[in-house]
Amino acid sequence: MIEIDFDAIYSQSKEQKNATLLAQFNQLTEFHYQHCQLYKNIIDTLGLAPTNGCLELVPFLSTQLFKELELVSVPKSQIIKTLTSSGTTSAKVAKIYLDADTAKLQAKSLVKIMQCFSGKQRLPMLFMEPSNLIADRRGFSARGAGVQGFALLGRDHHYALNPDMSINWQQLEQFFTKYQGQKVLIFGFTFMIWQYFYQAVSASGKTLPPLDAIVFHGGGWKKLAHLAVGKTQFNQAMQQLFGKAKVHNFYGMVEQTGSIFVECEHGHLHAPNCADIILRSEQDLSVINDFGQQGIIQVLSALPHSYPGHSILTEDLGRILGEDTCSCGRKGRYFEVLGRIKKSENRGCSDTYQEVSHD
Ligand SMILES: [Zn+2]
Repeated sequence: MIEIDFDAIYSQSKEQKNATLLAQFNQLTEFHYQHCQLYKNIIDTLGLAPTNGCLELVPFLSTQLFKELELVSVPKSQIIKTLTSSGTTSAKVAKIYLDADTAKLQAKSLVKIMQCFSGKQRLPMLFMEPSNLIADRRGFSARGAGVQGFALLGRDHHYALNPDMSINWQQLEQFFTKYQGQKVLIFGFTFMIWQYFYQAVSASGKTLPPLDAIVFHGGGWKKLAHLAVGKTQFNQAMQQLFGKAKVHNFYGMVEQTGSIFVECEHGHLHAPNCADIILRSEQDLSVINDFGQQGIIQVLSALPHSYPGHSILTEDLGRILGEDTCSCGRKGRYFEVLGRIKKSENRGCSDTYQEVSHD
């Protein structure tokens, strides 16, 4: 098992981080090579040695492969949870197989990262989700897993929506009244907050008591772009809704649940100690080292142990803005996501951790 220091999750500067991560990724590559036949076949076919001397040479898999293949590196009997990215009925879903160790690492990592933005105190928490999302166990959707993971950060959980996505006014009014003027956590997927909450509350003409909210939201920008809603407008809407709001966007993949990239006070997505980002050219997949230049995002995470998801080429475009130098004081690379690469398929509704973390 990989040992990860979760105590200071944004503490490592470039050299230190590269050395630690490279050792971890080489260990993971070797482990998955030995324990996942499909992964071995892929690596052997590509002619790559399973261990290498720099981060950029850690072999990557495309997100598509997790939809096509059953990629798992531990005996099936050890799998305690399968995450699925449930897209439209026609689209294939990714399946991510978690054993107890990986699930524990993911949960711990998520909490440690988010606490850097919300503080260690468990605050009252409102989800922009229907309350039946977690109760529905037919398939453990990544969206449900996301909610369950984030739930560990807060207490007295309330759910703003009914199963039909209409507003649950009773829950909402209870929460806003109970915690008027107090610090609370709000969690939701970007598009759902906008469509099912902000727009519905605005249309109702009702006013809610002001809160002091920390809003975590992921994905959904692509859908909002269709509605011509930008980041500034979204953040203003949150101020309007909650009275006072600190808004943090996040970016993450269902294949790398737990090692999430969260936007700091300066609007930059940050790579924590246990993860990193590399940009690759859209033409030839060569590494782009220049900050500010657009490329395809490759994400690396030290958490995936039960499946070979430690190095993934996404279908997203982004650009790295800097490394170790953000004025928020956090070390590591910081970046922004610019959208989806053009040829990638439409994954349908805002229904997956992966998808909503992307758009
Ligand atoms: Zn920052």
